[in-house]
Amino acid sequence: MFTKILIANRGEIACRVIKTAKRLGIRTVAVYSDADEKALHVKLADEAVHIGASPSSASYLLGDRIIAAAKKTGAQAIHPGYGFLSENAEFAEACSDNNLVFIGPPTGAIEAMGSKSAAKSIMEKANVPLVPGYHGKDQDPKIIKQCADDMGYPVLLKAVAGGGGKGMRQVWSADEFEQALADAKRESKASFGNDDMLVEKYLTQPRHVEFQVFCDQHGNGVYLFERDCSVQRRHQKIIEEAPAPNMSDSLRTEMGETAVRAAQAIDYQGAGTVEFLLDVDGSFFFMEMNTRLQVEHPVTEMITGEDLVEWQLRVANGEALPKQQNELKINGHAFEARVYAEDPNNDFLPTTGALTTLITPQESDYVRIDTGVVEGDEVSPFYDPMIAKLVVWDRDRSSALARTASALRDYQISGVTTNLNFLYDLASSKAFVNAELDTGFIEKHSDDLFNPVKVDLTQLLSQAACYLTLCVIEKAESDPWGSRSAWRMNQKDIYSYDLVVGDELHNVVLERSTNNTFLISVGDSVVEASASLNGSSLTATLEGHKQSVTVAKQDDGYAVFGQLGASVFSVAEPDCGESDKADTSKEFTAPMNGTIVDVLVSANDNVTKGQVLVIMEAMKMQHTMRASSDGTVSELYCAAGDLVDGGTILLAFAADQDEAEKGNDA
Ligand code: ADP
Repeated sequence: MFTKILIANRGEIACRVIKTAKRLGIRTVAVYSDADEKALHVKLADEAVHIGASPSSASYLLGDRIIAAAKKTGAQAIHPGYGFLSENAEFAEACSDNNLVFIGPPTGAIEAMGSKSAAKSIMEKANVPLVPGYHGKDQDPKIIKQCADDMGYPVLLKAVAGGGGKGMRQVWSADEFEQALADAKRESKASFGNDDMLVEKYLTQPRHVEFQVFCDQHGNGVYLFERDCSVQRRHQKIIEEAPAPNMSDSLRTEMGETAVRAAQAIDYQGAGTVEFLLDVDGSFFFMEMNTRLQVEHPVTEMITGEDLVEWQLRVANGEALPKQQNELKINGHAFEARVYAEDPNNDFLPTTGALTTLITPQESDYVRIDTGVVEGDEVSPFYDPMIAKLVVWDRDRSSALARTASALRDYQISGVTTNLNFLYDLASSKAFVNAELDTGFIEKHSDDLFNPVKVDLTQLLSQAACYLTLCVIEKAESDPWGSRSAWRMNQKDIYSYDLVVGDELHNVVLERSTNNTFLISVGDSVVEASASLNGSSLTATLEGHKQSVTVAKQDDGYAVFGQLGASVFSVAEPDCGESDKADTSKEFTAPMNGTIVDVLVSANDNVTKGQVLVIMEAMKMQHTMRASSDGTVSELYCAAGDLVDGGTILLAFAADQDEAEKGNDA
């Protein structure tokens, strides 16, 4: 076996490969860009070599630098992971030219699958079923259209050199054909420098079912069953599962054997995936073969108990496959949910920033988390914004799915917008629970999946008020002299907060009574509450309903993680984080950009607790600033009509001395 390998990748897949290498006693070399200097994969590897600037074109895609790093460190083999150089035949060739083993298929197999039409011709010869269509060399538009007319509409035009859904067009009728062909050709030329097209029958309700195959250098080939990856957005997978639901043993065997035949038709070696479209009537068609380890390989590992990276290493080392087909069995069911820094309600646009909170579900025999980041790391704009893969196993589909939903609820991430709530809604949607899967799933169920986050506003605001108040009290107890908490034995205490949720401002007043229970006024409702705080964990009983949530401070407010997923609020005033600097004087600042509507005091005015000082309008709401105690307006910095930015100081205030002393009694 190799004694040292280099991993030409980053993030979770680099960490994943390092894990297996460590278990097998193989030393590892990581490569990293500027942005990844402190990344987890660099920390986990035995050695690491800097290969360039942050953009992948200046680092992870530079084959020469990676090969130089391997030679410098004495690595004998290179694992390419997925993406980057993993399906680059030139890189695979360069590895062998430099006496380095490329942990992947032979160059010829990568090349054979590089062109969609060439791949189809090979598969046709190997008796692998293809979607009816035309993939010939003659690109005369008349020939292509004739084929479409003969098949009947709808049809799908695909760029021969295509990938990632580019250069693809659905055509619903003959009169749309010419325009669609011209559009697809233009897009293909721009993306791939080649505008050759093929045309296929467009299946309206197919499932994406792919088979994991493995071949060795000794002529053995097996399939490690299938994954259903039908739930996609823009051809990107969201949740994958293994095995595919409602798959009969006979169909599984037929498709599995076909997949192995497809791999052997190109003299394949190592891990590969043969993707099929499975139609409603049970007919299936070859789509493409991915000549690398897939992102979603962990679900296969969970149901087979095999380590696919170990298999890759053994095959690359010239060993025979660890198991024969009859030794492989499916055990239970597994899901993989891809946790992304992205905003599902904004067309899945990637989000970037620091992961200020990153609390994962507990890992166990049932729950596995593949990730390349830890709390505090940045999701940078340079790479794929995947944060982690949550992989969950159980003995059957419904148990595994219930466990997946529950684990998604346990995931707590703040600092960047994530798809966690979307994944939860998806995993718990009726259609997904019922396995009503096809590649149009997301579109079909968009009404259920893209609802704005459901927030129980009264509950959230009450929890927020409890949390902020308990923070102030905690502070007072640990630092009685520095606190502005006004609580005294046998006396009621009022805390007033202006809280922002979404783009609305809410005034929440919490009245704390002697027995440490709270009455919280939120709009017209009054909520009876009691609460305790243990670190970031808040347990609040609201109207007799006890719930625990975690509260995490983020740059612009707080994230509350509870039964409804993550909700966010921010505090206009006061903020418990400020209590350390609180004494008799303080400043009132604008909570956000807005207009000063009215100023009801002048400098040097004496005011009483609760008196209105300034009214501003922000986010279409009037926001009233009141004196938090008796005192004096020491300075006034604003006037009616002013446009102010969030954070602008509006007035300085000095509380009366005995108000401050109340805090000292506590
Ligand atoms: P690319 O290589 O650009 O990703 P693929 O050929 O792999 O393109 O197809 C991507 C996706 O498009 C598939 O997962 C499937 O959802 C859909 N698709 C591809 N071919 C067809 C077809 N003939 N009918 C219906 N949907 C298809």
